[in-house]
Amino acid sequence: MSTRRVLIVGASIAGPALAWWLHRYGFAVTVVERAPAVRPGGYKIDIRGAAIDVVEQMGLKDRLEGLGTDMQFMSFVNSAGKRLVSVPADLFMGRGEADLEVMRGDLSQILYDETRADVEYLFGDTITELDPATGAVSFQHAESRTFDLVIGADGLHSAVRELAFGSDDVVHDLGHIVSIGTVPNHLALDRWELVYSVPGRTMNLYSTGRSEDAKVLFLFTAPNLSYDRRDVEQQQKILNDTFHGAGWESDRLLDAIVRSDDFYFDTVSQVQLTRYSVDRVSLVGDAAYCPAFTSGQGTSLALVGAYVLAGELSRSNHRTAFTHYERLMRPYVARNLKLGRDNLGRMVSKSALQSWFGAMMLRVLPKMPGRNAMIAKVTQPIHDAARAITLPRY
Ligand SMILES: Cc1cc2nc3c(=O)[nH]c(=O)nc-3n(C[C@H](O)[C@H](O)[C@H](O)COP(=O)(O)OP(=O)(O)OC[C@H]3O[C@@H](n4cnc5c(N)ncnc54)[C@H](O)[C@@H]3O)c2cc1C
Repeated sequence: MSTRRVLIVGASIAGPALAWWLHRYGFAVTVVERAPAVRPGGYKIDIRGAAIDVVEQMGLKDRLEGLGTDMQFMSFVNSAGKRLVSVPADLFMGRGEADLEVMRGDLSQILYDETRADVEYLFGDTITELDPATGAVSFQHAESRTFDLVIGADGLHSAVRELAFGSDDVVHDLGHIVSIGTVPNHLALDRWELVYSVPGRTMNLYSTGRSEDAKVLFLFTAPNLSYDRRDVEQQQKILNDTFHGAGWESDRLLDAIVRSDDFYFDTVSQVQLTRYSVDRVSLVGDAAYCPAFTSGQGTSLALVGAYVLAGELSRSNHRTAFTHYERLMRPYVARNLKLGRDNLGRMVSKSALQSWFGAMMLRVLPKMPGRNAMIAKVTQPIHDAARAITLPRY
């Protein structure tokens, strides 16, 4: 069989991970990424369950363990900054012993470094036309080319999905916005996360042991908010209008995030497709099944999806491979999409009473009889969803 040429669109997590596996199976891989280089930034992300097996097989587990965030505690603060209750970070995040937590940017950089010698990367470019039947692609800058397969790893707002599948009503906005950025660690946090929550609005701030800076996350309820995805100034104005005067460190953090060079702002959304592939085109990661960041599983899904898609392509022609890929992924994806929806309610309170009740529960939990069962009720669905796939050996 002649070498199959694959174009992957997107070089964040799913794209370079897929490139790694496809190169290993003898495919000739090109990755096109709109950004001028691998994009830094993002929050801490979890690698759990089946995704741990994947990074282990890639030989990356030890390196990722060395880059772990080592977060120790999470405290809920009031508007004056008083720590109302502090809980071990692992307990709150439902993290099991084998799970990894690293910075998104670190993982993306490692995956790029692991593939850059063997894979052609086209940065600062994107596709403008795509014929799913032939694999013919036009780029914004590079010469047009024809590939045997084109895979969209271009995230929630996938251009490949739009070009090949036509419709964008597969993105389900969960009615919230998340914004993240790197800011000075002015509270001298050390592997500690602070959470401040008022109805409809939540702010998180933390610093890991490996960084002098801190990360801030703003999460707020905003049903049907329309904004321009390319207009950062407009997004920052929306953030300011929503959080200015909200209490705690809101104003200082708003000033700081505007200055951050990795400002991230997006809807909390899920992608639900009736099929992941059409003709010679398929999708992987958020482009195919974004579970929303509230699931804490987007990166794991991307890593597992890349492993399964590449493995199936190594075994059979693309039609059969795409069918098997989807069949294997669907139940796993469904469990994680549910997790994303369920968790959202816990992350943004609807009323002052709910905020107060949540903080009180955490405060009394360590002394309560039956606490293990209560903790398991929250953490078990995370572990179950993370393991809801049996990985084939390819
Ligand atoms: C800068 C950044 C910060 C993030 N921060 C967080 C976070 O803090 N918490 C969290 O849970 N998730 C975050 N995410 C999303 C997280 O990375 C994904 O949910 C998950 O890891 C799945 O990754 P993915 O590779 O499928 O998609 P994504 O990580 O979204 O990557 C998509 C990639 O495709 C590129 N791209 C998009 N459109 C095109 C196009 N038309 N042509 C070429 N390239 C294109 C993007 O620049 C990006 O590099 C972030 C993503 C990015 C890009």
